[in-house]
Amino acid sequence: MSKETLSNINIVSKLEEIQKIGQLPAKEIQWLLTPKRINYAELKVNGERFPAWRVLFNDVLGPGKGGIRFHPEVSEDEVTSLGFWMMIKDSLAELPFGGVKGGVKFNPKKASPQMLEAVSRKYIDAFYEDLGQDRDIPAPDVYTNPQVMALMLDEYEKKTGCHEPGMITGKPLELQGCAIRSDATARGGFIIIKEMVKEFRLNKRTLRIAIQGFGNAGLNLAQMLWQDKFKVVAVSDSQGGIYNKAGLDINRVIKAKSEFGSVINFSDGEKINNQELLKLPVNVLVLAALENQITEDNIENVQTTHIVEIANGPITYQADKRLFARNVVVIPDVLANAGGVIASYFEWGQNKTGNILDQEYLKEQLRRKMVTSWGKVIATQREHKNKIDLRTAAYLIAIKRILVAGKLRGYLE
Ligand code: NAD
Repeated sequence: MSKETLSNINIVSKLEEIQKIGQLPAKEIQWLLTPKRINYAELKVNGERFPAWRVLFNDVLGPGKGGIRFHPEVSEDEVTSLGFWMMIKDSLAELPFGGVKGGVKFNPKKASPQMLEAVSRKYIDAFYEDLGQDRDIPAPDVYTNPQVMALMLDEYEKKTGCHEPGMITGKPLELQGCAIRSDATARGGFIIIKEMVKEFRLNKRTLRIAIQGFGNAGLNLAQMLWQDKFKVVAVSDSQGGIYNKAGLDINRVIKAKSEFGSVINFSDGEKINNQELLKLPVNVLVLAALENQITEDNIENVQTTHIVEIANGPITYQADKRLFARNVVVIPDVLANAGGVIASYFEWGQNKTGNILDQEYLKEQLRRKMVTSWGKVIATQREHKNKIDLRTAAYLIAIKRILVAGKLRGYLE
């Protein structure tokens, strides 16, 4: 593998498998694994230096679309992997976008508002020439939010000298954001969980759900499930988790988190750590935190029968294989967490046309897109006589679309 190609063993192994199942030429796989552009810069703020990346994978379907992550552990490998997954996700959802992701090795939780603003603006100063509504369109990811998007939009417009709200999504409503964007990832995940319950004839009344991660995606999803009378028995954040087998009152958990900073401050439950949450005797485990949470080291202890990946890449390739062998159903990230990018697509469309669409209409469009993707993935699994997992089915669909576009443009034979 050349240095420029992606080296994440989980992705490379998956594509080797896809190559065999889809009977694809090796050079097509190599083409898919090679980023088109890797931007790197050191952001200098107040005497400190923060490594920053923007990695574009493949834009044969349209401009790159993918978020920016601020996290102390961000690395080039991580950003590159996230860019690859965005390419698959955008294609599976039939969006006119390619895959891209950005990141800054920086901890906003320990930074002042001035520092956060300076890093956000510097990111745009470093990369603005490659951004734009028809080139590469960022959005929020872990530890970035609408306020950060607002600052980035402002910096971009200062640099280019014209208004272009479609250059970034996940903006505040006042800056031409989209009314359904803030909880769209959770809403998409919620729609998929309801499809899963129907498809696998799960009993909603006895179902017990645990959720790892209680941020934008995990918190909103927990609330939607709870409001729809699903029983959420455990949730966690970076400080640890809480468990109550009778079910948690999610609104009270949210209150405890907002008042005291963590779910562990909720008194009506047993305190657990994040590893313990993964081992709970639940029916559905939702992973909504970070990558590589279920690995070969802890897979033996996982008891659930259904896993929903809201985080990107939370299960390693080998662990995924073993889960499939044990008949554990895994709803892959590229399907389950696509709600956010779908709403971003609506936001981008509104910004380009100036036509603001009704919220209820957009929610229905989101539901339709999620259900359509779900139906295609299930149908593809059936075509393969259920011998492939849902991730493989999703990749086969997404990759086929990218390869057709690549061939139409003359990049592949
Ligand atoms: P966020 O920053 O709002 O929240 C992240 C949450 O994870 C926080 O509650 C944090 O405390 C928790 N966390 C961090 N480390 C943890 C650990 N080791 N164990 C348990 N919890 C931990 O981020 P988010 O937007 O909710 O994103 C969560 C995941 O979903 C990420 O993998 C992200 O890439 C993915 N995702 C998010 C969106 C979106 O629109 N927000 C879209 C697609 C995918």
